[in-house]
Amino acid sequence: MTAIDTLFTSAKFADGTLHDIAVTTGRISAITPSGGASAAAETIDLAGTLVIPSFVEGHIHLDTSFYGDVWRPHVPYSNGFNVQERVAIQADNMAKAAPMAERAKSQLELCLGHGSTRMRSHVMVDGSVGLKSLETILAVREAHRDVIDIQLVAFPQSGILRSAGTPDLLDAAFDLGADVIGGLDPGGFDRDVEKHLDVVFGIAGRRGVDVDIHLHDPSMLGIFEIEQICARTQALGMQGHVAISHAYSLGDVAADVVQRTAELLARSGVAIMTNAPGARPFPPVKLLRAAGVTVFGGCDNIRDSWWPYGDGDMLGRAMMIGYRSGFNTDEDLTLAFDIVTAGGARALRLDDHGLRVGARADFVAIDAPHVPQAVVDLPKRRAVYKNGRLVARDGVIL
Ligand SMILES: [Zn+2]
Repeated sequence: MTAIDTLFTSAKFADGTLHDIAVTTGRISAITPSGGASAAAETIDLAGTLVIPSFVEGHIHLDTSFYGDVWRPHVPYSNGFNVQERVAIQADNMAKAAPMAERAKSQLELCLGHGSTRMRSHVMVDGSVGLKSLETILAVREAHRDVIDIQLVAFPQSGILRSAGTPDLLDAAFDLGADVIGGLDPGGFDRDVEKHLDVVFGIAGRRGVDVDIHLHDPSMLGIFEIEQICARTQALGMQGHVAISHAYSLGDVAADVVQRTAELLARSGVAIMTNAPGARPFPPVKLLRAAGVTVFGGCDNIRDSWWPYGDGDMLGRAMMIGYRSGFNTDEDLTLAFDIVTAGGARALRLDDHGLRVGARADFVAIDAPHVPQAVVDLPKRRAVYKNGRLVARDGVIL
């Protein structure tokens, strides 16, 4: 048997049982009922504290947050929700902001302090910023590689067809180290669903990368785009490799359309990300889950040009998803928790995540009696372990 580096004793699991967790070279090498004797280089007594898998922050923007910078008052829309206008306001804000690497580090540490050790960040790649933002965030990722795993999405914030040179820039992003190809409202923003998706899925096919598309488009336009994304996913055999972020339209169409679209998403292996966004309609997560759709969560914008809210806590995000979904039972609160842990791992294809033998030893010891109450209480007292090593305590990075 391989030597145990660290033995965590008396960890309370979600079902209330006490277990010892053995960690060898950053992975969980054994899970045994508490009380048995094992030799380890180091033993940490968790004394019956609840242990949960670390959170998967499935959708964030490390490049555009002001977190760690001065407070920037929100600029409202001049005439209702308008992605183009918001992108212009963001460009103006970014020109005045503190250096991106500093802001990204502040935001990343905020998330890690709350217990996210896995992350997917969208990063702007388009004619307005070229590859500069991606280069900066790649360096931030490298500097933090021991404490957090980050997937980077090449994200065309200014559109693909409306922003000159963007298709080539998106393609070049994968030579630099991007992991996932993004997209943005093919109809509502770029005004051409077919051509937009040709570029996104063209790159996905050529580069062999996953897809994650921002879709704010409402009602039947959004549903039509979901159908097109599902059709391309099936045609390319990319089931399990495609996600749609937001999919607001699933929250504002008739029940039979939602049901039919949920079944299509499940058949196509297309995941849905939600952040339970403010006052907007958003997907019915319980219905989607019941249909077999992978649902995951993200904080999305934290203190940026889109809204001033966000604290980087994925447990808080589970609470928001549950609150907006009308979740009250323990079963439903646990579902909200699953969205920010196992759901995120499924969507990001992190097959080494979770409290099981062989997985990375990424977990959080949290001051709560059980998972449903953790989702409601949002305890601040937490110890965050990455690869079996303590990396943050009570929100403070060590
Ligand atoms: Zn986003």
